[in-house]
Amino acid sequence: MLNREELLALKDEEDARFVAARPKTVALWERAKGSMPNGVPMSWHFGSYHHLMWASGGHGSRFSDADGHEYVDFNIADMSMFTGYGPEPVVRAVSEQVSRGSQFLLPTEDSVIVAEELKRRWGMPKWQFTLSATQANTEAIRVSRVATGRDKVLMFEGKYHGHFDEALVEVDDTGRLVPEETGLASDAIENTILVPWNDVDALARALERRDVAVVLTEPALSNNVVLLLPDDGFHDRLRSLTRDTGTLLAIDETHTLVSGPGGLVGRWGLDPDFVIVGKSIAAGIPMGTYGMTEEVASVMEQEKDREGERHGVVATGGTLFGNPLQMAAARAALTEVLTEDAYERTATLGAKLANGLRELVAQADLPWYIHHLYPRSGYTFAPEPARNAAEAYAVDDHLLRRVIRIWMANRGVWEAIVGAGPVVPVPGTAPDVDLYLRSFSDLLERLSD
Ligand code: PMP
Repeated sequence: MLNREELLALKDEEDARFVAARPKTVALWERAKGSMPNGVPMSWHFGSYHHLMWASGGHGSRFSDADGHEYVDFNIADMSMFTGYGPEPVVRAVSEQVSRGSQFLLPTEDSVIVAEELKRRWGMPKWQFTLSATQANTEAIRVSRVATGRDKVLMFEGKYHGHFDEALVEVDDTGRLVPEETGLASDAIENTILVPWNDVDALARALERRDVAVVLTEPALSNNVVLLLPDDGFHDRLRSLTRDTGTLLAIDETHTLVSGPGGLVGRWGLDPDFVIVGKSIAAGIPMGTYGMTEEVASVMEQEKDREGERHGVVATGGTLFGNPLQMAAARAALTEVLTEDAYERTATLGAKLANGLRELVAQADLPWYIHHLYPRSGYTFAPEPARNAAEAYAVDDHLLRRVIRIWMANRGVWEAIVGAGPVVPVPGTAPDVDLYLRSFSDLLERLSD
């Protein structure tokens, strides 16, 4: 393996190669700095692992940048384009809906069809719609507070559930809870509890106080530097502890919905009080949604008096939430793109990718663990999978990840953001996976020079 100096030199070399081949990209960014902070429409665009890229269009499993370079996409916009770019049924449904009216502030029939389909897939009887998973989580927490009369939310260290105050809390080096970013109120940590993933004892201790309204978690934590899988029996314990303490359980499937028609809730037979879904559910048209049990939904049921005044209103909703465009997109995505068959195919290609990575890593004699979860694969720079965020951070190598990503980008492969691990999208093909493996193999060869 290259030493740090050699690794840095390789990164510099690949960064320079990337920039040299993209004059229009460079010029666009310079121009954008005159009208947007950091020269980007929203701050995350600046967080890229290398020089900013500007997308010009995509089709299927590929997209192109402003300079005309094409990429096979294994990041699929952080899981929000699992359907691939421009799936015909979605293009048709959305185009028709735009021409008929993209917003009325009245529901359309599609919303009934979408809610029924979500109910069939996730087993949750009642659904509500927002514009993002962040908003769906925010609302699920508010409903939980009304249902339980408690304020606190428990999440697991190393999580990500969106950019809202309660969720932007982390544990610092001294073990204290702190706001994760600036711009948050100094008391933003007040209602959040974090415990280590897979730590049933810590969870039991935290819930014992009976002041937690809801535990919000992904079925497997997919937003850390590696994928954090649950230990055997962890979900059973999580469910029984929440039930025993009168705490609601919300499973956030925003990323893991790529695992199956009903996400990991369906694959693993989980039994939560809420399911949160977002990102690719409407093929990249903004949409978040949450499903809930009848019991939970009953706290959202409003009454109207004879004068039409509403009573029992929970603080949810927004002008564009549940709009006809997102419903048309979700209906087409759910019924024509995210089919049983699509999930089988992507899981098979995900296995091909994981097996290929395993072989390459073994050939290179690297002590790296390769995980596989349906369409997704990925690597940990250690022989064993990390069981929690602290273990994951301990074995992470930020520089190596940067090198991997720029190397792949220069070879036409769009690699995942940290932690996501490559995911094969619905239109992904065996040759796409072969290209990923070939580029990765060349990199391992270079690293062992
Ligand atoms: N939940 C999970 C599990 C996520 O991964 C994300 C985004 N990465 C969100 C919620 C928030 O999604 P959005 O930014 O679309 O609101």
